[in-house]
Amino acid sequence: MGAGGGICPLSYGTETINVAMLKQNESKTAVTYLTDIQCSGCGKTYSANEIHTFCPDCQSPLLVNYDLNAARKHVDRDEISRRLKGMWRWHEFLPVRETKNMVTLGEGDAAILHLPQLGGALGLNNLFVKDESSNPTGSFKARGLSSAVSKAKELGIKKIIIPTAGNAGGAMAAYAARANMEALIYMPKDTPNANIEESRIVGAKVILVDGLISDAAGMAGVKALEEGWFDLSTFKEPYRMEGKKIMGYELAESFNWTLPDVIIYPTGGGTGLVGMWKAFEELESLGWLENTKRPRMVSVQAEGCAPVVRAFEKHATFCDFWINAQTLASGLRVPKSFADNLILENIYESKGTAIAVSDAEITESQKELARAEGIFAAPEGAATLAAIKKLIAQKWIHPDESVVMFNTGSGLKYLDQK
Ligand SMILES: *Cc1c(COP(=O)(O)O)cnc(C)c1O
Ligand SMILES: [Zn+2]
Repeated sequence: MGAGGGICPLSYGTETINVAMLKQNESKTAVTYLTDIQCSGCGKTYSANEIHTFCPDCQSPLLVNYDLNAARKHVDRDEISRRLKGMWRWHEFLPVRETKNMVTLGEGDAAILHLPQLGGALGLNNLFVKDESSNPTGSFKARGLSSAVSKAKELGIKKIIIPTAGNAGGAMAAYAARANMEALIYMPKDTPNANIEESRIVGAKVILVDGLISDAAGMAGVKALEEGWFDLSTFKEPYRMEGKKIMGYELAESFNWTLPDVIIYPTGGGTGLVGMWKAFEELESLGWLENTKRPRMVSVQAEGCAPVVRAFEKHATFCDFWINAQTLASGLRVPKSFADNLILENIYESKGTAIAVSDAEITESQKELARAEGIFAAPEGAATLAAIKKLIAQKWIHPDESVVMFNTGSGLKYLDQK
């Protein structure tokens, strides 16, 4: 962590961030417009300078607030577009107050690619993928963990723990190493081997659990209380979502400050879906969008674990716990998200939908995307293509609509699973 010498403008890392910060200081905007954190359930606010998890009064996730009125006056979207690439170029809307606390491995700014061949075969003229597989540790979990580990560092936390379906553990382990923190990870024992090994090699302790992520969460929760570890479980701390949110900012920028018609998102805990919806609200408050048309949000799950789909079909506001969750798309093996009501609320508000696909359809779509466009997607990413095919058949998606599917990780991480 050499803050002192050897600034190399071509490398990502703390040094590069400092160069970017020097530039932005000249433009006189604040490092962050963070104000406080607020309960998504009861509305109670909490200080963003103290350690908080979720709302102790009503057990709902806490969301992060920014002074967007001030930001609207001082931050220029086009100046942000000229900054060095990466998630932290949006630091005004990330929760870290001091640049020295930003723990980065070069996450963010994953490519948005037009898919003319696949789109042509499907009869879609405007099909795009946001290919998040280029993130550090090979999945978009890097975004959330970069943000959460950075804020944890700023709050003086030294020991972090996580229950994970796989990729979140690998990402947390890497950022913990970078931040000089101790990392403890609980994973189901049938998690892809890559997730276990990538965590261990960067120095995390991995405990394999005979059960699902929900069982891992129970065990991690107990351990956290007993030994004072800080729990980075999805939505049980406020800051992972802020990193994922930036996908929404990037999307708006890529579409010249408009938004696509449809977003297809593979949903486990729902951080990205809820995060992007929050980003769209923030962008609107900032006055940065050229029109107010929001995308319809589609939540894709696996038939073997589809709590959001089942709840959506019943017009419910919460999910029931999914019993015997099973799918090769390990990131979707989440029997009940801690933010289930926020996921559903955002889908309803966007006039979106929720749809389940089988593991066979996922595998088939994985091959199709790979052969048509050269992208070897994670099964979770491939699930979005399987969903698109169904939505076209249902005429829910129209040929000229702009559709963005999310490939959330690299297929390479799942090779040993078969
Ligand atoms: C975690 C994960 C998901 C699900 O993301 P959420 O934001 O938790 O819904 C999808 N794909 C991959 C590859 C993942 O690791
Ligand atoms: Zn509350």
